[in-house]
Amino acid sequence: MKSTKSLFLILLSAYVALSAISWLSYSFHKDEVLLEGRTKFYLEKPGWVTIKGKYKSDKEKDTFLVLCMIDAQGVEVRLNGKVIFKVGGDGSASKIWRATFPVPVHIKEGMNEFIFNLWGEYNISMPARPFISDNPWLYSFFMNIVHTVIPMVLSPVFIAIGIFFLYAVSVLPRDEANSRDRQAFFYFSLSQLSAGIFLLYYFTFPNFSSIKFYYGVINKTAALSTILMLVFFYATFESMNGNFTISRYAVPIGISSVALLAFFDYRHSIKIITLLLPFFTISMAATLIFFSTRCGCILLILSMATLVASVIQYLISISIGPPVILPIITSVAITAFVMINLKLKDYLEYMRLANLSKIDPLTGIYNRKILEEIKIKEGDSVVFIDIDKFKMLNDIYGHDYGDRILRILSQVILENIKGKDYAIRYGGDEFLIIFRDCDKNCAEEIMKKISEEFKVRSKTTISYGISEYKGNLEKAIKDADIGMYKMKKKLDSGLEEVL
Ligand code: GH3
Ligand code: MG
Repeated sequence: MKSTKSLFLILLSAYVALSAISWLSYSFHKDEVLLEGRTKFYLEKPGWVTIKGKYKSDKEKDTFLVLCMIDAQGVEVRLNGKVIFKVGGDGSASKIWRATFPVPVHIKEGMNEFIFNLWGEYNISMPARPFISDNPWLYSFFMNIVHTVIPMVLSPVFIAIGIFFLYAVSVLPRDEANSRDRQAFFYFSLSQLSAGIFLLYYFTFPNFSSIKFYYGVINKTAALSTILMLVFFYATFESMNGNFTISRYAVPIGISSVALLAFFDYRHSIKIITLLLPFFTISMAATLIFFSTRCGCILLILSMATLVASVIQYLISISIGPPVILPIITSVAITAFVMINLKLKDYLEYMRLANLSKIDPLTGIYNRKILEEIKIKEGDSVVFIDIDKFKMLNDIYGHDYGDRILRILSQVILENIKGKDYAIRYGGDEFLIIFRDCDKNCAEEIMKKISEEFKVRSKTTISYGISEYKGNLEKAIKDADIGMYKMKKKLDSGLEEVL
């Protein structure tokens, strides 16, 4: 667990540092070529657009013009009337898509006139302003790493992770105790596959963008897989929390809208998707923040901060700097990957314990043998649960009915606890829950929910007692048992009064 966390910290810090360096080095570059008019265009048919720029110099010099992330299929740059750079356009593929590269230029003293002719279709833009620099190599290196190399490397990585988790889902035994994890793994693998397909864009686009058919297909596939990725990410987090409420609708709606959009002409679908994407990203960020605060893990909160920063940066940089949608997607993916990775470790631990017969076969939760190796510390709490009048239920409706009630209670408990908590069948109709990092009040709150849900689903009630762990597990269980007994007494005297 520790090594995963450190690896995560290293990866995340490296990524954040790289993004920050590349973005800051861009932001602090003062020697911009001043552009006139718009830098974003929308063309229904392939064609040229022109952006004019000015650069004033106090002396004549040989230097570099740095072009960053031009979103077009062809570019021609003129300086003072002379063509200084040309690639793609008029049907041939441009290999410069979103790359950052320096072009050697000879600047004259006084005002220099630049003309940037961009060729392409649909969205054409110069999201990052070109600038003059005598030493452009380090900047270009960082920009290309963050915006081109990392996405390219991540594409096969995500696809491999997706396939691995699909495989994991297929080999996991289908018992009730791990249904939540199985569902989370399943949606996670789908989200990783979608992310991998989206990132394939970076391999395919520069090579096929001039061929009209591929241009549409690639653009549309990338955009649609982004929607699926976000929907499946959300479903992953909801599954992990055993609370599949919004995803119940979001998954079918997401899949059917993607299927519908796939039939539209790609220009329309891309237009719709471009409009929706910022909303998707922001809701994604909000979702992750919500789940990470619940999970109480400082690392996740850290990465959420990165995410929020990226969203803010995205919002303010739409017109003034390089787009940062990729760092957002990448930090989301890294965070999710680590969350699931930790979950997978829990699962492997569960399998190991199952082999050691520490799992109750009827309910699929732990049996009391787990108490020998339970991890517990001060600040955790212990809950003792006993089903009311269970013997009577058995006698009236039969043993099978009783068994079903026991399974319902286990299920309700599992749905309401977190991954690091323990659900234990202590004996007959007695259950224990060990809540980690959760005091008496916190446990009380969850128990009220469990109690209510169980009552609705089984028409039966439970009594419970809560104690805080203070260094002696046996005593904590005993105290919780006494608490349970008191609750039961109250119930019994209440019943007597009624009778
Ligand atoms: P109280 O409200 O005081 O808790 O009453 P109760 O009837 O629940 O009493 P008690 O807790 O002593 O009853 C436990 C019963 O649970 C006794 C036993 O028949 C039943 N039991 C124990 N294990 C199983 C099981 O695996 N399946 C079923 N169906 N019943 C079980
Ligand atoms: Mg009982």
